[in-house]
Amino acid sequence: MSQTPSRADFDRYMVPNYAPQQVIPVRGEGSRLWDQQGREYIDFAGGIAVNGLGHCHPVLVEALKAQADRLWHLSNVYTNEPALALARALVERTFADKVFLCSSGGEANEAALKLARRWAHDQGGEHKHRIVSFGQAFHGRTFFTVSVGGQPKYAQGFGPVPGGIVHGEYNNLDSVRDLIDDDTCAVMVEPMQGEGGVLPGRQAFLQGLRDLCDAHDALLIFDEVQTGVGRTGSLYAYQQLGVTPDILTSAKALGGGFPVGAMLTTDRVAPAFSLGTHGSTYGGNPLASAVALAAIEHIDTPEVLEGVKRRHELFREHLEAINARHEVFREIRGMGLLIGAEMSEAWRDRAKDILPLAIEEGLMALIAGPNVLRMAPSLVIPEADIAEGMARLERAVSRLVAGQ
Ligand SMILES: *Cc1c(COP(=O)(O)O)cnc(C)c1O
Repeated sequence: MSQTPSRADFDRYMVPNYAPQQVIPVRGEGSRLWDQQGREYIDFAGGIAVNGLGHCHPVLVEALKAQADRLWHLSNVYTNEPALALARALVERTFADKVFLCSSGGEANEAALKLARRWAHDQGGEHKHRIVSFGQAFHGRTFFTVSVGGQPKYAQGFGPVPGGIVHGEYNNLDSVRDLIDDDTCAVMVEPMQGEGGVLPGRQAFLQGLRDLCDAHDALLIFDEVQTGVGRTGSLYAYQQLGVTPDILTSAKALGGGFPVGAMLTTDRVAPAFSLGTHGSTYGGNPLASAVALAAIEHIDTPEVLEGVKRRHELFREHLEAINARHEVFREIRGMGLLIGAEMSEAWRDRAKDILPLAIEEGLMALIAGPNVLRMAPSLVIPEADIAEGMARLERAVSRLVAGQ
């Protein structure tokens, strides 16, 4: 008989790149989780914007079980029905004409960047390779994506860093005008920065990027790994912002907890990924594709998307009420159910101190950098769970304020 794993096993057996909380959740249902001791938690973290339908949603469980009895994997030597159905669903519901399937956000972004480089290479030659990105941007942890990301600490010590990458200031179009030219192959941007602090991109900024890309024959890449699949109240954020990219990446909530990613693009750009140029063993895996298709079909409905907007208002009202009593936040912002509360000057960089207190009160939340409390709950979180979660959050905040 094997022993029940414990938190100490993490330090014993796993590389030390994470520092997980002491509790180990073992079961989840909807927006509630239970740990090894049977303690219950309300989940405002959603697996970092992954569990778009909460834990063990019957629609996803059913899709996974049905596919598990049918076919698990084939490789890319064959195509398969779930992958084709998912690709078709993504094309029919977005600007895209073509899809590349993979298993994570970093992998989708890696594909997007390689596609942009290859497309520009085929169009304009070797010199058209420059990539414009933004400070505080987050695009994944592969070496190309940390280099394009805007947090230098993630690339430090792994050098030499790939060349031809420059960073502007988010929401500052002038900073991009100084960087973009005819040697630029792509501008990569999150329509709302997630890890960087839950910062919504201004419509005029994003439209300005579109115009600059058009003027310089560069591709606009929207990283919607965190904002996609209903998170902001539309299937993808670009659809409500009215700015259409040439390439869009999706992952996180796409599989609702099953690893899957996708890169979407147009018929103008897709041919640059000609036969043999790129690939991924698990890309288009039938299990992943079946779950993602079920997630998309369930989320991309007026009922779920309207519900996201209604819940956004609820989150905002609760957070403002907490703030009226405790004065810890400077600003509450975000779109849909990706919500950030930036700490006030007096509580600067203390958002991270709320998390362990919240765990003790039975609430899971997130931060986006040390100064922003972040929430990315299930898109269908029951209103009663929002109210109870906010009561627990308020207890955690009042303990922070009381210095307990
Ligand atoms: C999480 C995230 C990624 C990386 O996704 P992984 O699945 O961890 O590789 C990329 N971009 C954004 C905007 C993200 O939030």
